[in-house]
Amino acid sequence: MTSEPEARGTVDTADSAWDNARAQLDEVADLMGLAPGVHEILRSPKRALVVSVPFRMDDGTTRVYEGYRVHHNVTRGPAKGGVRYHPAVNLNEVKALAMWMTWKCAIAGIPFGGAKGGISVDVRSHSRSEIERMTRRYASEILPFIGPERDIPAPDMNTDEEIMSWIMDTYSMNTGFSVPGVVTGKPVAIGGSRGRAGATSRGVMYTIFSTLRALNLSIDEVSVAIQGYGKVGGYAAQLLHDAGCRVLAVSDVDGGLYREKGLDPEAINRYKQDSGTVSGFPGAEPITNDELLELDVDVLVPAAVEGVITVKNADNVRAKILCEGANGPVTFEADKILNERGIHVVPDILANSGGVTVSYFEWVQDIQAYFWSDEEVNDRLRLIMEKSYEEVHELAAEKGLSMRQAATWIGVSRVAEAHQMRGLFP
Ligand code: GLU
Repeated sequence: MTSEPEARGTVDTADSAWDNARAQLDEVADLMGLAPGVHEILRSPKRALVVSVPFRMDDGTTRVYEGYRVHHNVTRGPAKGGVRYHPAVNLNEVKALAMWMTWKCAIAGIPFGGAKGGISVDVRSHSRSEIERMTRRYASEILPFIGPERDIPAPDMNTDEEIMSWIMDTYSMNTGFSVPGVVTGKPVAIGGSRGRAGATSRGVMYTIFSTLRALNLSIDEVSVAIQGYGKVGGYAAQLLHDAGCRVLAVSDVDGGLYREKGLDPEAINRYKQDSGTVSGFPGAEPITNDELLELDVDVLVPAAVEGVITVKNADNVRAKILCEGANGPVTFEADKILNERGIHVVPDILANSGGVTVSYFEWVQDIQAYFWSDEEVNDRLRLIMEKSYEEVHELAAEKGLSMRQAATWIGVSRVAEAHQMRGLFP
């Protein structure tokens, strides 16, 4: 029996990431008067591959998981997007994430289409060598789909630099020479970009600053709560703390921490290195993930999984600004409630585009075999993030749209323009 929504006597009509992604597209297609043919094309992925991933366990037995790679759209350039390892991964989730990548790349003005991939796996139940064998087999199975001109995977939830190295190596061993441009988010030693590891978090920070400027609020003493202490949330906590914000709360899957005077991310990082979690950190009050989302803070950054803000808790969110570090943390219906309540929601496809933007820089550097400094990467990232924010904010103001509607409008219109210019084959 599912529990009844407390706040609004209504349920989310869009209860999965794919329903949400489609509902967002349909709404904006209607608002902008998108040509029905293009709308129909964009409602479905261009191609989707489902693969079986068998691999040897350390004890000699065989395990088989399902893997996916979806290309939503490649009209503006090669498909681009991360690879996710999580038990909740399924074809529909990957389709949603691939669609969001299409809009994200178009909003940032980088010449990629949208892709995503993943394996339905709980990484915590496997050794590192099992993850390596699983990754290499997955890479082999999706080999015909990927390549520097075709589709460039990158890290996402529970995948990292080392996993990207294994994908790059598997592809290169099949080709017979090193192909660094086949993945991004690699170690710098094999063609990775400086600044890629922290790029999504840095982009989230630039987005928060743009929002504060747009709302005439000062950066000093801004209070922040961050859900998720992985690649995005953990580094964002550090960057925002260093920039003068008060990070009052953080969390991971095991639970959260709250300190009214502000947390010290460096101390939390040291604690996490030994314990593997932020939960239990001494010197802060324990809170739940649900409590964190309802804290009275200036900025809330959901940087964990999809669908954490729904019709059930949207009325309880007290932050002024909600900056989506994760993909799809707010459901379609909850988004309406937050907007009605005057909460400034900065959507994922704008707020977390720093990762794919520096992935683009990495791909450009690999192709040119000429590498940039940290300053060059970070400055160019900031320019792109600020420009994208301004464009979205301006359109939202001009047409009376939410930031998500305006961002989706820009993404969809750029992809639609490319479709119109190229024409329908044959
Ligand atoms: N996985 C990240 C995202 O969702 C980055 C993708 C990439 O760099 O290609 O945006």
